[in-house]
This record gives sequence, structure tokens and C-alpha cells, in this order.
Amino acid sequence: MINDRLNLYELTFDELRQFLVDLGQPKFRAKQLWEWLYIKFAGSFQEMSDLPASLREQLEQRASLGLLDLEITQLSNDNHTKKILAKLPDGQFIETVLMLYDKRRTLCISSQAGCAMGCVFCATGQMGFFRNLTAGEIITQVIHFARELAAKGERVTNIVLMGMGEPLHNYSHTLAAVDRLTDPSGFNLGARKITISTVGLVPAIRRYADEQRQTPLAISLHAATDFERDKLIPVNRKWPISELMEACRYYIEKTGRRITFEWALIDGENDTLIQARALGELVRGMICHVNLIPLNPTNGYLKSPSSKQRVEDFQAELSKYRVSSTVRLRRGIDIQAGCGQLRDRAVNRS
Ligand code: SF4
Repeated sequence: MINDRLNLYELTFDELRQFLVDLGQPKFRAKQLWEWLYIKFAGSFQEMSDLPASLREQLEQRASLGLLDLEITQLSNDNHTKKILAKLPDGQFIETVLMLYDKRRTLCISSQAGCAMGCVFCATGQMGFFRNLTAGEIITQVIHFARELAAKGERVTNIVLMGMGEPLHNYSHTLAAVDRLTDPSGFNLGARKITISTVGLVPAIRRYADEQRQTPLAISLHAATDFERDKLIPVNRKWPISELMEACRYYIEKTGRRITFEWALIDGENDTLIQARALGELVRGMICHVNLIPLNPTNGYLKSPSSKQRVEDFQAELSKYRVSSTVRLRRGIDIQAGCGQLRDRAVNRS
């Protein structure tokens, strides 16, 4: 039944107002309903106490709040990472992760069911592409955790689009979701708190730069030579490193914003001093930062994360090029927090 109802998180404010007008309601109801959706995170229409009972009844019949149908919920041993696997009405699965870092409440959300990019070290890449998520499906992942955090007097402070999917391969829905989540009259998360992560879709990066987006951009680079990157990230054969770096420079020039390069450190693969030097040469002088993240192991890719010593050596070599970098903690290894891993488990189990 829920399939036939309209998920209200699919609508912009103007569309929501029109929806209410079509139900015979005055326009001012839109603001009330918007606040229930994006500020109070109502879990049911019956909670919406300032709406007339007759309207709540109409909404019950025709609309939904996109509540996630949870298949699996997992909490890491240290209680700092929570991961959910939700089943969408058409049977697709998506994963969302909440990570607690001091005062930050960071969500890693999905933009697609599966992914077409096929990065070899990634469980989502290994499963292939199923479909794009709608803007509402992207937003409801955030609202799910916002509701949960609000019950403890907390709120979502950061979002990273690093879950299942390549966000710039689903450009319009992803950016529509971002626009709604940053709307000051609603969820009101600062644009700088939402990071869009891409594997390097050059035309989409240029479009993103042209639109002067304020949301930070992260590039999953993982290798600094085409020979190495081709092996890890098939899309590199379409847009090789030289074109990708040109697009990154274009983005920096257009927006004046720093770019982040993500680098999953894989033992004996891309954690050599040769790669560190190649990376240093590649990004030297750019307004950028490098995040070094020891690989999150997956079943379909048997390589290991780099040892602590190799991570330190890599970082030390990179610093010779005056490139700033941070070694990031891997979170939720015990709950398969790398994207796609939980879905794998659910599908293989059934
Ligand atoms: S790393 Fe990202 S872009 Fe690559 S396959 Fe996985 S989800 Fe897709």
C-alpha cells in the first residue's frame, strides 16, 4: 500500500504547497507541514497536532513520511558507529551509517542502489548498479537519524555522500536533496557540512564548479598514476588523471574552495613511496588536503589495509611536497561499515 502513497520528502516547498492546495487546504498549511517534516521530524501524521484532524486523515490516505523499512541495524562494539540496511518499496537495499566523533554526528548516506563505477576494492562496486535513488530517498536516510538523534537532544552535524553509489552519477536527485537539506526554513544544515564525494566524473565536476556549489568536494583518487588507478577504478580509463586534475583545478579556480583527495591505503598496492611521490608531484601547490584511510576490507577484494608503519612512511613522504594530509580512523570495521557490505550479507543470507 505504501507504494501508492506519495513520500512527502520528494516534494520541494512549492510542490508541497501545491499538494495541499489540491487537497483544498489554505497555503499557510505548507509551512506547518514543512516544519513537521524538516524541523520536528514527525514519525506519524497523528503527531502533527496543529493540523486539523481531517487533513491528517487525508494525509494518512494519500501520503507517507518515507519511513525506512529496516532490514538490519548494527552497532559497533565501541558504540560509536551505527549502520542500517533499509529495504526500499521496490526491494532495493540502501545503507546508511551514523558515526559519532566527539561532538560531531556524521552521516554517511547513499545516493544510488548499487553503483556503476565498479571500483575493485568496494563491495558496492562489486554488486553492480540497480538504480538511482530519488531525492526523497536520499533525504529520508537523513531524517531517520535526525529523528533518532533528536530524541536524545542531538542533531545531525555533518553529512558525507560516501555511501552506496556515485553521487555525481545521480546529479540532479543528489543536488536536489542537498538543496532541501540546506534550506534555512527547514533542516538548515550548513552547505559546508555536506561533502560530495566523487570517483572523478569529469563533466559533472565541471558542472558542479560552474554552479558554484558551496558543498565541499572530495575526490576518491587512490592512485596517482594511470597505470595504478586503472587497476582500481575503471572509470579512470574514461577520464584519466590528467583530465581529472584539470577539472579539479577548474573547480578550485571557479569556487576558490579547497578540494579533498581520498586515498584508501592498500598494502603493497598504492601505499608505496613511489605512489606517495607521484601524489606529491600531482597535487603540489593546489589548494587541497589528502585523507589517508587504511582500506576497509571486503569479501570480494582480498588485499589488506596498510600497516601503521607504511601509513606513517607514506604520509612522511607526502609531507616533503608540502601537501597537508590526515590519517583517518576506519570506523565500524566490526559491523562492515564500508558501503555495500551489509547489503551483501543480507542478500547472501536470503
Ligand atoms: S567506491 Fe564509490 S564510486 Fe566506487 S564503486 Fe564504490 S560506491 Fe561506487
